[in-house]
Amino acid sequence: MTKYVLVSDSTLVAHYRHFPLLTFLPCAPSELVPKSVYYFLKGPQDAPMPNGEAATAPYSIRKLEAALLKAGVRREDIAVPHESRLADFIKDDTEVIAVSTMDPLGTGPLTMSYNVLFGTTHTPWVRVEWERLMRKINALRAGKKAKLIVGGPGVWEFTIEPEAVQRYGIDYAVQGECDDIAAQVFEQTATGNIDSSLFSNGFISYDMQFHKSYNEHNRFLSRKLGLAKGAPTLEELPPIVRPAMMGLAETMRGCGIGCDFCEVTLRPMRYYSPERIGEEVKVNMQSGATNAWLQTDEIFAYKHLNAKFEPNQEALIELFSYIMSIPGLKSTNPTHGRISIPAAYPELIGKISSIVKASPSNWIGVQVGVETGSDKLAQKHMPNKTLPLKIGADGTWQEIVWKGTSNMNKYYWRPAFTVQVGQMVETPEDNWDTVALINWMSNSTIEGTSRPFEFTATPMQNVPLGLIKSRAFSAINLDEAQMAVYYASYRHLAKMAMRDARRDSKGNMLVKNGTAGLIYVGGWSMMKLVEGIAKKHKVDIEKVKRWGLDREKNKQTAVMASRV
Ligand code: SF4
Repeated sequence: MTKYVLVSDSTLVAHYRHFPLLTFLPCAPSELVPKSVYYFLKGPQDAPMPNGEAATAPYSIRKLEAALLKAGVRREDIAVPHESRLADFIKDDTEVIAVSTMDPLGTGPLTMSYNVLFGTTHTPWVRVEWERLMRKINALRAGKKAKLIVGGPGVWEFTIEPEAVQRYGIDYAVQGECDDIAAQVFEQTATGNIDSSLFSNGFISYDMQFHKSYNEHNRFLSRKLGLAKGAPTLEELPPIVRPAMMGLAETMRGCGIGCDFCEVTLRPMRYYSPERIGEEVKVNMQSGATNAWLQTDEIFAYKHLNAKFEPNQEALIELFSYIMSIPGLKSTNPTHGRISIPAAYPELIGKISSIVKASPSNWIGVQVGVETGSDKLAQKHMPNKTLPLKIGADGTWQEIVWKGTSNMNKYYWRPAFTVQVGQMVETPEDNWDTVALINWMSNSTIEGTSRPFEFTATPMQNVPLGLIKSRAFSAINLDEAQMAVYYASYRHLAKMAMRDARRDSKGNMLVKNGTAGLIYVGGWSMMKLVEGIAKKHKVDIEKVKRWGLDREKNKQTAVMASRV
């Protein structure tokens, strides 16, 4: 008997050929990326274990599994099946099937950027895969008592389309961090007897300024509002006990930087010790992982020191040194970090790089939210993200980003930038600033060398929640400057794809050549597609290509010297 069956969104269980950025593939429209290409690039899921369970699972599933075990649920009552073996676990006595998801309805920022660009008649692969999984699970549980609940970072999408919960036959969408009350969630959703002193039937939503509101809904479950504790404490977060996908290990929760468009910053900050992070790394290594991917929303905020968000260099060095001292581990990289720290503290990046053995054959990939090339927007929406550097005294935001990228690349860190289109109070001039930044960096070499900059820039559409709700985002007409941001980003991406496709593709010769070929052609085709759309919008392509390239030489030296 398996009481609790934990399942992951199918888009989260593939390796995407281990190619940088290919994990974004499911955000693409299914009508533009043919099925054969999608499934080839997605790659196979790892084979199931002999008992039908998945050998590795997304981190959120592993955390949930650990939370249930910590609460005293018996090991034999919990299963994390391989998707191909779901039928072996969903039986008459199964009480709860829990699905963790990231972007079920295709309303995440990157997916929305494709929606706005290509039109709403397209269905993103994330939604195609989600609907297939829901059909499969609902068919397997038909006539049985098992309740279906969903959780994870994608649950917010159901708060803007609550009717979808019922449409997919979901009994409860569970919102928020639940590590400390996971057992109660499962026990109570199984019976339908919800303890109103612990949970509310409803969800929290936010407006564009992140003002919170509470909405009653009988198919949602969230932590009771007004409870003294709004989130689990550090001690209540259990370490995972079986391997997570991609060697992911949690480093911290919360961020604290306070960007006004970001929900993460509302969470309390909790930092794990290096030893505790190492515990999870060792669990992941049981599946053969030799890289530790450190989950964080801002690695340079790890145990940070003060209100100026100066990095705690000692803590960062201690963290990376400890992780790299784990026998058998070959490499590590953080998931996210901000650019102002490499701009201001190149020596710190150099020290971490030598600890993690960064090199031309071991680039440290990290996602970085640059968001804009405009000083005005950076100062308005993310004033702390530039700290301890200040826009003005320490250069423009573009100069800070340029310096940070140069320092990262120098030590073999490759940032994957996101830039936003559609921010509040944005003007065309702000977007042209973003185009200028991308063009400048695309044509730059690392200070003192002839090595070209290595980075990607992915545009994200900032769509007002009201428009997502009404599915009226097709009404968004990208203006010339916004289209220019898309075009400049995909033009640079094509340049990177053509330059790096072969070097970064993995697998045997056939798979390597196939992946490299598709990435090469895909990058070029995507640029041409965006170029075609831009031309239809009467965008002057030659103007976009040239924009920002006439800046004074060596302007970047305006950024102040390193802070040590
Ligand atoms: S630095 Fe990143 S995670 Fe932190 S508040 Fe800003 S956008 Fe959010």
